[in-house]
Amino acid sequence: MEIILRNLTKKFPSRDRKNHEDVVAVNDFNFEIPDGKLIGLLGPSGCGKSTTLYLISGLQKPTDGRIFFGKDDVTNLPPENRGIGLVFQNYALYPHLTVRQNILFPLQNLKGKDKLTKTEMWEKADGAAKLVQIDGLMDRKPRELSGGQQQRVAIARALVKMPKVLLLDEPLSNLDARLRLQTREEIRRIQQETKITTIFVTHDQEEAMSISDLIVVMKDGVVQQIGRPQEVYDNPANLFVAKFLGTPPINIFEAHIRNSRLFIGDDAVLRLPGLPDQEVYAGIRPEGFICQEGGELCCMKKGIEVMGRDISMVCTHKASLSPTVRIIVGAENNTEPNRYGEEFPVRFRLLSRKVFLFHKETEARIHMRECSL
Ligand code: ATP
Repeated sequence: MEIILRNLTKKFPSRDRKNHEDVVAVNDFNFEIPDGKLIGLLGPSGCGKSTTLYLISGLQKPTDGRIFFGKDDVTNLPPENRGIGLVFQNYALYPHLTVRQNILFPLQNLKGKDKLTKTEMWEKADGAAKLVQIDGLMDRKPRELSGGQQQRVAIARALVKMPKVLLLDEPLSNLDARLRLQTREEIRRIQQETKITTIFVTHDQEEAMSISDLIVVMKDGVVQQIGRPQEVYDNPANLFVAKFLGTPPINIFEAHIRNSRLFIGDDAVLRLPGLPDQEVYAGIRPEGFICQEGGELCCMKKGIEVMGRDISMVCTHKASLSPTVRIIVGAENNTEPNRYGEEFPVRFRLLSRKVFLFHKETEARIHMRECSL
């Protein structure tokens, strides 16, 4: 099912006695969600992700704008008539019901021509349970299940009516790191098997990037960028998006362009033909530095950090906006693991495709014709 959001806006009245301005949770959201895809809605806490999901589900009404499921305008349809399945962070299972009864629950309320016989209901519940691989646990109560298993029951319950749209609100937040990884892969598998258009809300960029066909990055109720995860990572629209995606995060420097050259501090690091002189922010991904004698950028090396497979060189630079600059290096540079000693200078060549420039005031991306020195 394709979902179209047109000028979607949601305002909440202010409850602040000093500030009477409405809270704009979702601001003029325009987006077409293609049929059968998994979309990651991504952004920091309070940016309007859950509100967007609740508007699509019908649990909340927009202040402005329209929502279409395919050709149908569903803006004023109640949630139960939209053909959606919803999964929340806290599972919301009925504690006194067994797994089977929890999954059967949405089917028992079907009326009229949709009403099912007991056999049909059991078949559907068994099918949904098999899909999420909990068919061996049907007679247990929720308290007899692990967090991951409970979340699977919640997903089975959302899937049992074969919804046209599956909406997942931070479904992995209550799980430990290993289970999160496993369950997110499960969600991807289930989505690919069922081909149900799925919207997945998370503040975890790695989670969204790993399983989504498209990610929507939001800030303060406003969409910042929509695209395939790798595209957005490789081509961020603004400083916010560049900083939000990537671990270790992108390194941001105060920089300036003079005579078609990019300077970080006193170092001329790239040639930038055609760009006027100006102050800019330069963002350099941690994998964009090549340690090389005679390299253009000089940083002070503080030490090496080994985090499993990843090896980062931790440096400082006086133009860096954060206290340390993190650089992903190859294993051959791993001479002093996790040791911090006296600082000494190290020179780097920069990979120009890993360098992004942003306007000082608007923080919008400045596109450059890439050209190394
Ligand atoms: P989180 O990741 O913390 O769940 P979120 O991105 O999902 O955050 P929302 O829950 O959509 O954000 O909230 C967006 C903004 O709207 C926040 O400023 C929030 O305080 C406000 N908000 C949400 N619901 C209400 C409400 N019922 N009444 C007033 N303000 C609300």
